[in-house]
Amino acid sequence: MTKPIRIAIGGFQHETNTFAPHKAPLSEFLKVDSWPGLTEGVALFDVMSGLNIPIAGFIEAAQQNKIKLHPVLWCSAEPSSYVTEQAFEAIADKICESIQTVKNLDGVYLDLHGAMVTEHFEDGEGELLRRVRAIVGPDMPVIISLDLHANVTEEMVANTTAITIFRTYPHLDMAETGLRAYQLMEAALKGEKLIGGIRKVPFLFPLTAQCTSLEPCQSIYQAVSQVGKNTTSRLYAEFACGFPPADIFECGATILAYGSNQLEVDSILDELLAQIIDAEPHFDINLLTPDQAIQQAMRNTVNKPVVLADAQDNSGAGATSDTTGLLEALVRNKAQSAVLGLMHDPQVVELAHQTGLGNEFKTSLGAKSGLEGVMPFNSSFRVEALADGNFTFTGDMYKDSAAELGPMALLRVVDDGCDVRVIVGSERMQCLDLAIFRHLGVEPTQQKILVVKSSVHFRADFDPIAAETLVVAAPGAHPCELTKLSYKNLRPGIRLEPMGPEQKNQ
Ligand SMILES: [Zn+2]
Repeated sequence: MTKPIRIAIGGFQHETNTFAPHKAPLSEFLKVDSWPGLTEGVALFDVMSGLNIPIAGFIEAAQQNKIKLHPVLWCSAEPSSYVTEQAFEAIADKICESIQTVKNLDGVYLDLHGAMVTEHFEDGEGELLRRVRAIVGPDMPVIISLDLHANVTEEMVANTTAITIFRTYPHLDMAETGLRAYQLMEAALKGEKLIGGIRKVPFLFPLTAQCTSLEPCQSIYQAVSQVGKNTTSRLYAEFACGFPPADIFECGATILAYGSNQLEVDSILDELLAQIIDAEPHFDINLLTPDQAIQQAMRNTVNKPVVLADAQDNSGAGATSDTTGLLEALVRNKAQSAVLGLMHDPQVVELAHQTGLGNEFKTSLGAKSGLEGVMPFNSSFRVEALADGNFTFTGDMYKDSAAELGPMALLRVVDDGCDVRVIVGSERMQCLDLAIFRHLGVEPTQQKILVVKSSVHFRADFDPIAAETLVVAAPGAHPCELTKLSYKNLRPGIRLEPMGPEQKNQ
């Protein structure tokens, strides 16, 4: 009788913005947010079932093929600054100890982000994979999937058999990327040997220029997904746009390719790199000022909302989601039928719940995170709706996932000159799903201006209802104007933005 194939599976996700004010301690990985909390053992199967998360895609395919899985643990935290040493060591230890206990292990699959910086390692995933490789030895298949915003490192490549990466931003293909990882695992278990290669792109480009439904990323990802389509042997490529607000040596976009023949792999890598360098002048990194964007939105005559992306205060990229630049500008410009989501301010939410529906109160909204130069918005507010933060996402990215965002409130700025409302929440969450507005009784399609604290993910759900979408530079801890950042650790020579200046030796 042949023994059953046994694969250890797990996940450890963090996207680290080293310019953000708050670190990620263990408690951030334990709690439920827009994704499940830390989940161990067989509970993983139920928790992940049907979700658009890489490990869910891997599990589904493995179970269909009757592969025995050893569920280790899966966790994630909302993007922020450094993962604490204590959090990294506690979670990495659990993963390594669990893998070590499995008898007759045949492979390891890990669902990682690829941009984790810890207090003690620039490359969190590289360190984790180095430890896993040391346990399982050089020959066992170790396959990982990564986020499109991964800063892929040499260490990650060296300690894995193969890597898959999301090909969409907004990330609609997360589970599919896990499925591709499963297919590679299946091939590796049959003895197929892959040769991999890596090329780093010589310039950074901000998240606002990484959307895969806009050029040039649309064409680049089309080319990436076409690799190997006409070959009989296995040959594939992946591309990560990188996560620029990470002051580390290997920050930036990366191309990977895998195949059975080194020459073939190298020529694919060189072709894709040439295509990306050719596209360098076409990355759109321009942002509007709040006044420009609001005034343009107020001139709109189409009977649909104009969506303003408060891209630099996107908690999904580690920002605090409590800056007030766009809110202040909406009121100053006397905007009408405008709603902003999602301002993080648990204290004001609590006050609103105490004040009660229909009542007014005076407070200082936002700026609680103490980000330099960010002022709170002082005003009277009327409580227009209160909610518990428990609802189901409806947009394609998080479809059918359960949100547990804690108490929330819809507040109207009491000011006769404008019609401006703010959705305030107790948890930091990127505003990427129309269900956030509807949970507070706001029908987004009926508004004139919607402001979302998001860089690109909102586009999957909001672009279809928008008259137009404008990307705005208001204050925030997710800087999109990269030449304004004081990097210290980037590799010398990398250009700080497309066609931009080079990083100088420190
Ligand atoms: Zn991402």
